[in-house]
Amino acid sequence: MSHLDLDAVLAVSNQHAYPVYPAAIPDAWQEIAAEKGYDIVGRVRDRYHLVLRHEDCGAEMISRVFVLRTSEPACPTCLDTRRRALCAAAGVSYLGRGDHSNYFRILLPCGHETSRQQELLERVRQGKTAIRCETCHAERLAAEARARGWELIGPDPQGDQSYRLYRHGCGHVQRVAVGNMMTGRFACGCCSDGWTTAESNIYAMRFVLKNGRDVIKAGYSRDPQSRLRHQLITDPDQYARLIRTVAIPSGHLAIRLEKELHATLRRERPDAVLHRSEFAGEVRVVSEIYCASIEPEIMRLLDGIEMRVKALVRH
Ligand SMILES: [Zn+2]
Ligand SMILES: [Zn+2]
Ligand SMILES: [Zn+2]
Repeated sequence: MSHLDLDAVLAVSNQHAYPVYPAAIPDAWQEIAAEKGYDIVGRVRDRYHLVLRHEDCGAEMISRVFVLRTSEPACPTCLDTRRRALCAAAGVSYLGRGDHSNYFRILLPCGHETSRQQELLERVRQGKTAIRCETCHAERLAAEARARGWELIGPDPQGDQSYRLYRHGCGHVQRVAVGNMMTGRFACGCCSDGWTTAESNIYAMRFVLKNGRDVIKAGYSRDPQSRLRHQLITDPDQYARLIRTVAIPSGHLAIRLEKELHATLRRERPDAVLHRSEFAGEVRVVSEIYCASIEPEIMRLLDGIEMRVKALVRH
């Protein structure tokens, strides 16, 4: 063993795992040890190693003779006690040493484990800073996002600490400042500015897929014509036509009505729901596409939506 791990050595010395080295302890060594606050209680392993007892705490440790003669042996038990005390004063529990030097593994009051530098814990003890639990923080951010109809996906791809990557209910993924997600002062880049309160539409579009199949897509958009041209179709020559638009007073209501529409169609005409593999790469959508054979049913449902919305607006 070229260098000694103090914690490991403490453990073995307590169990006297090292073989005793049968030799006398020179008086001169005892004097040096006494000056430094230790008693030599034995010799172990080879002629270079001693068992020291720390006078302050009574704990034993293994030290090299060289270390005793040339420097202050550091009692691992006392170090450990100091680390625990520092952590307790900083409001956390000490679990052990971290993977990097000067890092401690700690248990936060919320119950999550993490590791922090000793220097940071010193500053926490002095009230100069606080420890933020990354796990709890991430859970809070995710809950805030959920409340606004977004899903927290992960860190900002551009590496800005104050941003995260989110997915909107419409399927659109974008980076949003954490502060803006909290206050709601931002808009989905797909559903467009002010989409929640601005007027929207439920639409139906007819496509012909490359395999020749006629299909209908229903959805909501502030501008169905532009959504069709710029977002949905992947090939400008693809046959795609807007066949119905129902004006909806708000984006919120449009999302709700669209969800209901898909739920109804999935329930009543599961046979007409296209498998994703059939249109992957041709139509960029996240919600259902239906066989055009059920166009009359889709139109009837859209009639129903139109009537409900008119009744809403009149009241
Ligand atoms: Zn000690
Ligand atoms: Zn936590
Ligand atoms: Zn959106």
